[in-house]
Amino acid sequence: MSKTKGSQGVGLYARSNRRPVLYKDFCASDSLRKRYWARNYVGWPRFSSIEPNDTHKLLKKLEDTQKVRCIITQNVDNLHVKAGSRRIIELHGTAFRVMCLNCDHKICRYYLQDVLDGLNYNMSATSQMIRPDGDVDISEEEIDRFIVPACENCGGILKPDIVFFGDNVPRQTVDSVKYNVEHSDALFILGSTLTTFSGYRIALQASNAGKPIAILNIGQTRADALANIKVEGRCSDVLSRIFTVDKKAECKEC
Ligand SMILES: [Zn+2]
Repeated sequence: MSKTKGSQGVGLYARSNRRPVLYKDFCASDSLRKRYWARNYVGWPRFSSIEPNDTHKLLKKLEDTQKVRCIITQNVDNLHVKAGSRRIIELHGTAFRVMCLNCDHKICRYYLQDVLDGLNYNMSATSQMIRPDGDVDISEEEIDRFIVPACENCGGILKPDIVFFGDNVPRQTVDSVKYNVEHSDALFILGSTLTTFSGYRIALQASNAGKPIAILNIGQTRADALANIKVEGRCSDVLSRIFTVDKKAECKEC
């Protein structure tokens, strides 16, 4: 079974001032990148310290018992990795890695935070300023002063290793998704509306191959018409009940 999961937006990590960051704008605009990285820098301590929830942990257990072959996630929050899952495809990349737009150099996001700390020690904005919707207000003066380093290898532009709007999912990732769907017996879609085509086409592939599809999500999804089973509800509520039933079914004492 393959499983795909995503959630609304990626908060600070694909937006700027509540608007999606377009890939072409990020590449073209110095000032947009400065604004983006300043907000990303302020939000990082809180974002990077979020812990996996019960659903992430349960999926790790299902991988251990070979019920889940592979997790395909649209989230960039690294939570499946933190939960201990091993076979994860991050469809839209990860906010925990930073890439250079010019060369192949990649660095750990934690390392970049240390570099940014050194360059921006006067920054007074803190993650306490993050609003409940995940956005953060930083004064224009602070953004103007913010220093963004270049690639230490070639001097190129640094970008989080995530797929921005208008950017393409890397070919290698697409191929890996295809392979895993092909070698799974079913697709379980959790907590995603599959609004983006990169997610929806996974359901299309499974459907075209005649694989059963189950969807668990609050509200409609783009793939509802392709599903054999559709359950509306919160992942944690529904999965915890299924898991309890499974444990009882396997118990030889009762
Ligand atoms: Zn470079």
